[in-house]
Amino acid sequence: MHKRLWNSLKLEFTLEPVSPILIKSGGISLNPALPDMQFVRTFAAGGETVFIPGSSLKGVFRSFTEKVLRTAKSDLACEPFPSEEGYCGRKLEREEDTAKIYKNSCRACKIYGNTRLRGRLSFTDIYPNGPTKTETRYGVAISRLSHAVAVGPFDMEVLVSGQFQGALVLENFEVWQLGLIALTLQAINEGILKIGFGKNRGLGQVRMRVQQVIIAQAKKNGVAAGEIWGTGMFVGERERQDYGLRENDRLANLPQPARTADLGVLVQHTYSAEHWPRIEETSIASLGNLLEVRS
Ligand SMILES: [Zn+2]
Repeated sequence: MHKRLWNSLKLEFTLEPVSPILIKSGGISLNPALPDMQFVRTFAAGGETVFIPGSSLKGVFRSFTEKVLRTAKSDLACEPFPSEEGYCGRKLEREEDTAKIYKNSCRACKIYGNTRLRGRLSFTDIYPNGPTKTETRYGVAISRLSHAVAVGPFDMEVLVSGQFQGALVLENFEVWQLGLIALTLQAINEGILKIGFGKNRGLGQVRMRVQQVIIAQAKKNGVAAGEIWGTGMFVGERERQDYGLRENDRLANLPQPARTADLGVLVQHTYSAEHWPRIEETSIASLGNLLEVRS
């Protein structure tokens, strides 16, 4: 199924700290002039800058998705460590058929991949839009046993202001996968889900605002504007069975896109920020019966 592109979704967003955040660079600095824990930096066009690696945001999304899935039903997400018996990549170690690997992977692996399956979701690195501000904070770790200082004092460089911009891309997706991503975004914006270091110290709360959603879908079966189709809608009955895809996998009654472009074999719909709440709501509502959650 990865050899063809049935659908893709690009969600462009901005990200701002609500509380201070710290995405640590690797290791502890040996330079006494620098904080012990520094914010991760990279070189971009304008010189050295703080940034949020896409991989660290993806990790936050994955672990929340796993939690939600396990809460709904324990076998919807596997054991995340390759050494564990229940890990999908281990269970499917000898399976060669790519359709069966997809079908028999848990729902978390279907989005994020495992050692036998490529993930469908990727994040760009997230760079500042303009000026950013970091500050140095001091911290200690208290031993739970002795109530004495176990580590520290140490100083950490936290990001206190600035606006960042990035995108996530989901390819060949089923509609429930979009629903779980929408749910994760909601948890971040409600302050339930935090990013980076020091979540128990009040760090890590951010706001993510969707700016634009670009959805490309294969023309094959004539997708109506105002609908988002999952992969199950594009393939034949045989392939649907092989991959375990749903037949009527679509979100309907969405707003008309702001723009439509013809890309030859694909048609691309662009939704603007004000359309997102409706897409978010519809995709989350569609999770109900899929996850068999009964309220
Ligand atoms: Zn799995």
